[in-house]
Amino acid sequence: MIKLSRISKSFGKNQVLKDITLSVEKGEVVVILGPSGSGKTTLLRCLNYLERPNDGTIAIGDYTVDCKHAGKKDIHQLRQKSAMVFQHYNLFKHKTALENVMEGLVIVQKLPKEEARKRSVEVLEKVGLGAKLDAYPSQLSGGQQQRVGIARALALNPEVILFDEPTSALDPELVGEVLDVIRKIANEGITMIVVTHEMSFAREVSNHVVFMDGGVIVEEGKPNELFGAPKEERTKQFLKRIT
Ligand code: ATP
Repeated sequence: MIKLSRISKSFGKNQVLKDITLSVEKGEVVVILGPSGSGKTTLLRCLNYLERPNDGTIAIGDYTVDCKHAGKKDIHQLRQKSAMVFQHYNLFKHKTALENVMEGLVIVQKLPKEEARKRSVEVLEKVGLGAKLDAYPSQLSGGQQQRVGIARALALNPEVILFDEPTSALDPELVGEVLDVIRKIANEGITMIVVTHEMSFAREVSNHVVFMDGGVIVEEGKPNELFGAPKEERTKQFLKRIT
């Protein structure tokens, strides 16, 4: 349902992604692990075209984009099909929780305001923020702000939600509430790709784990395979260091 083929990305002379090929099935929760600088965030950003890959193709559903020749329409199409949850939430500070969620529905998806409001209230209730619709980000905890970020992605009803280290900016006591929400969404069968350092969460929630290092996929497999019996020396060393 999502297929990245031979994706490469360089920043100047620094080649950050080298020929990445990855398939994600509908409803799968894919976790991407790897040391700092291995290219995890760049890979997610390429999928959403926040970074333009130098080479390769991206297919989401029946839409395929040849990255070298992608035009505005292709980029717009890809962006419509995915939604990103950022490490630092990226909320509009002068908008309420409800307005933050409504924004994409009204501006990008051109939904009538009333419909957008109804959908936004629904998803904010789903992430446990039904009582905070009119709160501004500064009046919310980090965990609550990130839940608004998740609601915003969810509201767009994308084919895939991309999570870029969604809990790494949070105080430890706030991580659990955000992971609970992600777990709940995963159980509803929404396709997700999650970059995270939360190993126990990765093990429990994912169907597929990808280990990246140095801009390549070193190893991938089912969580019990990759965590329980990693094949590659680099994977073993990484898991030993962090678990
Ligand atoms: P972390 O776990 O620390 O977030 P990561 O695996 O997500 O790391 P990336 O953030 O994708 O790694 O970065 C991979 C490499 O690409 C790094 O060397 C980084 O410095 C470089 N890089 C990322 N974005 C840019 C950019 N906009 N301009 C130049 N170099 C960049």
